[in-house]
Formats: sequence, C-alpha cells, structure tokens
Amino acid sequence: MSITICHVKDAPKDAIYVGRKMFNYTPRRGVTLPFDVLSQIHIGSVLCNPFRAGETPDPIGRFKAYLWHKMQQGSPLICAELKRIAALVPVQFVTLACWCANEPRGRYFEPSLYPDGCHADVIANAVMYLVFQQMDAAEVTT
Ligand SMILES: [Zn+2]
Repeated sequence: MSITICHVKDAPKDAIYVGRKMFNYTPRRGVTLPFDVLSQIHIGSVLCNPFRAGETPDPIGRFKAYLWHKMQQGSPLICAELKRIAALVPVQFVTLACWCANEPRGRYFEPSLYPDGCHADVIANAVMYLVFQQMDAAEVTT
C-alpha cells in the first residue's frame, strides 16, 4: 500500500493530477499525455500548491502548514479530495502527478526550485495518515 509520485509527463492514465489549473495547456510536440490526465490539468486540482516555487520561500514547507491547517479546519473540498484518494490506496496503485516531481522518475527536476521535493510528497503523507486512521477506526469497530 503506497503512493507513487511522478512528473506529469510520466503520468499513467489513472494518475491523479495535483497541480494548478492550466486551462490552455497543450503538451509540447513529442509529449503525449493520456486524455484523462490532460483533462485534469485543464480543470486543476484542489490540492495544488498556492505557494509558487521561485516566488515564495520554502513553498513545500508552507504547503505542509497550509494543508495541515485545511485538514484541521475540515475544509470541505480539500478533505473530500484527500479522502477520495485515501479510499483508493488499499484497492489500486495510486499515482500523483505534478510538475515539480521527478523527471523521469529520477531526482527532482529543478533542484534549485524544488530543494525540498514536490508538494505531492506532502499530499501523499496526508493521505497515508488518513488511510492509517481509517484502518485504526476499522479495528476498533470490528
Ligand atoms: Zn508538486
């Protein structure tokens, strides 16, 4: 039971895109993305990082604090998406796709911009936290 994080360009068709809305995005020549992934890029994810690398210091650290705060607050959209992903983890391979993730599945793509990794690492940790919480809850009730 685990979550894989990949760069958008490596995303399998069942990947969950966690980046910002890019309504007009079209892949560069030579890059083909599965239709489902492309559609998610056009819509954007509620789990995208509002702190932009290169504009905000420590974007991943700030995202971690932000996401935790949203979970504590019970932010409906963010909690629903985290729970949706958490429900998938025990039953299928879950891949989160982001622009700041490894490319291709190696080390981080622009280490100067993303020294602390990808915000999807933070999402994966939050999701796994929910998965284990659900498992604990199931143990108590059975
Ligand atoms: Zn990211």
